Amino acid sequence: MASEAKSAVRRYRMYINGEFVESAGKKYFPVIDPSTEEIMAEVPEANEEDVNRAVAAARAAFDSGAWPQTTAQDRGRILFRLAERIRKEAAKLAEVESRNSGKPIVEAEYDIADAATCFEYYGGMATKVLGQVNPVPDNALSLSLREPIGVAAQIIPWNYPLLMAAWKLAPAIAAGCTCVLKPAEQTPLTALEFAGYLADAGLPPGVVNIITGFGETCGAPLVKHPDVNKVAFTGSASVGKAIMKAAADTVKRVTLELGGKSPNIFFADADFESAIDGALFGVFINQGEVCSAGSRILVEKSIYPKFVEAMSAKAKTIRLGPPLERETKMGPLVSKDQFDRVRSYQELGKKEAKLAAGGGRPASISRGYYVEPTIFYDVDNSARIAQEEIFGPVAAVIPFADEAEALRIANATPYGLAAAIWSRDIFKALRMVKALRAGIVWVNHMQPTYVEAPWGGYKQSGFGRELGPWGIEEYLETKQVHINLNEQPIGWY
Ligand code: NAP
Ligand code: MG
Repeated sequence: MASEAKSAVRRYRMYINGEFVESAGKKYFPVIDPSTEEIMAEVPEANEEDVNRAVAAARAAFDSGAWPQTTAQDRGRILFRLAERIRKEAAKLAEVESRNSGKPIVEAEYDIADAATCFEYYGGMATKVLGQVNPVPDNALSLSLREPIGVAAQIIPWNYPLLMAAWKLAPAIAAGCTCVLKPAEQTPLTALEFAGYLADAGLPPGVVNIITGFGETCGAPLVKHPDVNKVAFTGSASVGKAIMKAAADTVKRVTLELGGKSPNIFFADADFESAIDGALFGVFINQGEVCSAGSRILVEKSIYPKFVEAMSAKAKTIRLGPPLERETKMGPLVSKDQFDRVRSYQELGKKEAKLAAGGGRPASISRGYYVEPTIFYDVDNSARIAQEEIFGPVAAVIPFADEAEALRIANATPYGLAAAIWSRDIFKALRMVKALRAGIVWVNHMQPTYVEAPWGGYKQSGFGRELGPWGIEEYLETKQVHINLNEQPIGWY
């Protein structure tokens, strides 16, 4: 059985200049199925030489060849074909995504559909990038042109693997950039499956390159590379800061999406049943491995005891299990590292606050990186479990007395990605909307995300916006063109 499983391990290759290739060192690393802890595939381990090859391909594709001649209409058509292909392969992609990341299959199906929608959205936007005429006070025609930035290095995390690839690649292709994408080491498989669709969709070689490897040996040389014009990164704050420093040497454009410690705020006048569901959904979806997770749950004192009790009772009924089973509501965490990290926060929480639900790994499951949905209450906002991004199913419930205190606690974090408010008082909700320092604010909901609306953070949650028209802006330069209409140019000499 063991040898049979071993022989079933698929070896993927990575995608450079329109071809599936091995790494220069011919080395591979294993990809783990987090529900079985077994190897499910192997992918090439790219090093600096591979980075150089991929960047050279992207550079050449940007500077010459077919891509600079490809019209906006044709770039749009390529994106539509990619969307169509993703929809056609959705069942297979969702299965690979679910197995590789540990997310429930039903969630993976949503993600794959969202990835296709993202390609469709930017397929439409390719032909809507407009320049403008500037009203200068001279006999001249002043224009601003929008042009692609050039070669984009795109580094993504493991929580929404194909969807994050879509958020990066689709606007870049629409803008006319070329790309080198590095998926997270834990979850490279759907990106490599997707690589197989690019040539069929009509994308010229070198426009999109997808290389697999580790942060230090593949991500770092990619970010430093002098021929890269822009770095788009989603991941941890610590790596984001390192990337910003590395990009400074050659003044690369940078966009960062660095996660958070987002408050989910419940006033006493909120609909109670929806509030409990909203609190659970906000923090436990995708095993809590969500940059916008509502991991600080602020509850008005008059409903606080009842809220903690109801939320904990319902959390204990969440069905953990194999991600491919349709009844599963929570799968394993993505990796052993993440499991250890979240387990250590569960133990820390027991010292810092009171435990209402979970707190360990589920007793009934002996294999896989599963942890229980965990709720701590009476948490002080200055506690580490209230300040540090855990990136797992661990909630910190914090009581508050009134609107002013809710706001003070909500904003008392170095992050500012998202926030949610639950109340039936529209005036109170809108006062909070205005005063919260966060890039995304939901009212009476948490987590819905749409390709039409901007996504990104305030403060140390990063800068730049993905999705919508904002997303393509980040891949465009602005060129001023001045056309003199006088017979004689104006001059002094
Ligand atoms: P991470 O280290 O920030 O990884 C994100 C991406 O950056 C991966 O592709 C990673 O490659 C790459 N990377 C790592 N070091 C790099 C470097 N020096 N230069 C260029 N690229 C580099 O995140 P993680 O280790 O997967 O997770 C750690 C914590 O980060 C989580 O517990 C969570 O708190 C946070 N996180 C946040 C988000 C978010 O959406 N905001 C997403 C994921 C993680 P490798 O995968 O090969 O290391
Ligand atoms: Mg890492």
